[in-house]
Amino acid sequence: MRYATLAEAFEKLEKTSAYLEKNAIIADLLRKTPAKDMEMVVSLLLGKTYPTYVSKETGVGPQQLKKALAQASGYSSADIDRLLKKVGDLGEVARQLQEKKKQVTLFAGHLTVEKVFNNIKALPEIAGEGSVDKKISAIAELLASASPLEAKYVVRTVLGDLRIGVAEGRLRDAIASAFNVSPDVVEHAYMLTTDYAVVAKAAAARGERGLEELGLEVGHPVNPMLAQRAETLEEILERMGGKAAFEIKLDGIRIQAHKDGDQISLFTRRMEDYTSMFPDLIEPLRQALKPKRVIVDGELVAIDKRTGKPMPFQEVLKRRRKYEIKEAIEQLPIEMHIFDVMFCEKESMLDRPYTERRTVLEKIVEPIAGKVLVVEQIVSGDPDEIKTFMNKSIGMGHEGLLAKDLKANYRAGRREFVWLKLKPTVETLDLAVVGSFAGRGKRAGTFGSYLLAARDSKTDKLYTVTKLGSGFTDEQLEEFTKEFKPLIVDKKPANVVAEIEPDLWLKPKIVFEIIYEEIQKSPAEKHTSGFGLRFPRFVKLREDKSADEVNTVEEIEHLYLEQQKRKTRK
Ligand code: AMP
Repeated sequence: MRYATLAEAFEKLEKTSAYLEKNAIIADLLRKTPAKDMEMVVSLLLGKTYPTYVSKETGVGPQQLKKALAQASGYSSADIDRLLKKVGDLGEVARQLQEKKKQVTLFAGHLTVEKVFNNIKALPEIAGEGSVDKKISAIAELLASASPLEAKYVVRTVLGDLRIGVAEGRLRDAIASAFNVSPDVVEHAYMLTTDYAVVAKAAAARGERGLEELGLEVGHPVNPMLAQRAETLEEILERMGGKAAFEIKLDGIRIQAHKDGDQISLFTRRMEDYTSMFPDLIEPLRQALKPKRVIVDGELVAIDKRTGKPMPFQEVLKRRRKYEIKEAIEQLPIEMHIFDVMFCEKESMLDRPYTERRTVLEKIVEPIAGKVLVVEQIVSGDPDEIKTFMNKSIGMGHEGLLAKDLKANYRAGRREFVWLKLKPTVETLDLAVVGSFAGRGKRAGTFGSYLLAARDSKTDKLYTVTKLGSGFTDEQLEEFTKEFKPLIVDKKPANVVAEIEPDLWLKPKIVFEIIYEEIQKSPAEKHTSGFGLRFPRFVKLREDKSADEVNTVEEIEHLYLEQQKRKTRK
């Protein structure tokens, strides 16, 4: 196909901004395009010679382009600069120079799509000594036989600035109308391949059937499945038939890992290639993923070595860098937590239900501590069990839970109600530690649980709210036992009002942040604050707070009243 046909379509596209008109121009162009040129034409329409997920730099900027223009036109760089100042766009400069040249020589003409595509595609690969000159020659070669209009678009394509207003999304409708197929089927094919060039070729060749035959390929990113938000656990259980899988929801960078033999590639949620940013994950993934060819989905998080808790998302983002990667690895070691599998050996897993994919996942990943892990999960319909798991997730420093419909397939690129995010609705409380109970069984020899209290702002005394024995790691229990020993006193501290007798009284100095399921009224002979907590769970030690800064009984009462209001509204 002549490149002139493409350049003319580009020119028409530049001149209109009407959606339907643009669509018609693209559809018309696609219909005219022979099968062998289809992928090239669609790529060039998007101003590229590689799929969007491949990031390659041509290494050619305005300076080199000006040289190529000078070579091809015989004008000096000073002339070119002058013209550029006047018209403001190198593409337009190329057009005008070619126009002038046309008056003196007959240009060779007959530039083909294939020639333009190949010369531009080769640019990133030209390396080594003299590579800049070779790149300039490759462009000058195209310009030498280009018409004025062709020259304009060759230059803009090389610059990566086509300015014809064709974004990826638009191609869905244009392909659908060019080949008389449903836009939904086009979109689905795109979600799997992330490449409209491949999609257009299949649609042109075999219509909807061709699109339906397109599938995943290892090394080509898949559009990841997304989650909807749920307000309550009840809503989740209702939507998912009374029972679902609940996974820890981590807050990091969504990454899919592709393994093809020894080759590992990492892609983000937007299908950018991040492989080079995480060299510390490549070898671990090679080892942890057992199949030869596989695509898995997961989240990258950085774990704070001191606390064992995940770092805030902003910290993880610091690993998203092109330079000084080595230093970053040392400061922020990263882990990949895998939660799904899209492809395994020779087979797509997308149409398998969640339960089957999870079974496969557990078989094919050999976890490597601190590097590659499988996201922790429970399958349950028991609200108490699920809430305890939620508290565990919060206690570990994660965001909440992701509920997954056991029967649902993997819906690439879609945000539906078969993956539901659940975040805790309650605020955490900061409470003072006033006593401890001896651990039993596995916890013997340590403080196994604690008595916690809130402050009354009128009397300035501490009133008990809850006993707390969940959410601690074994290490924390041991550490706290040691650290709190100096605080042991032989009788109830004067500023503590309590009916419950702990095994040991502790001077109120320590503050725990805790999470809970619900605030309940408590008889004063149990908890002297008049309130108690359902499913309390340790979140963290508030080293920055003293016992006078804990939540007050009034604040707890206020939270209780708010909670009751929410309940009656439901
Ligand atoms: P959001 O970004 O708030 O829409 O939440 C969805 C995101 O949570 C996904 O895109 C993932 O990056 C992340 N995520 C964390 N843990 C999981 C998990 N277990 N399953 C799926 N997505 C998860």
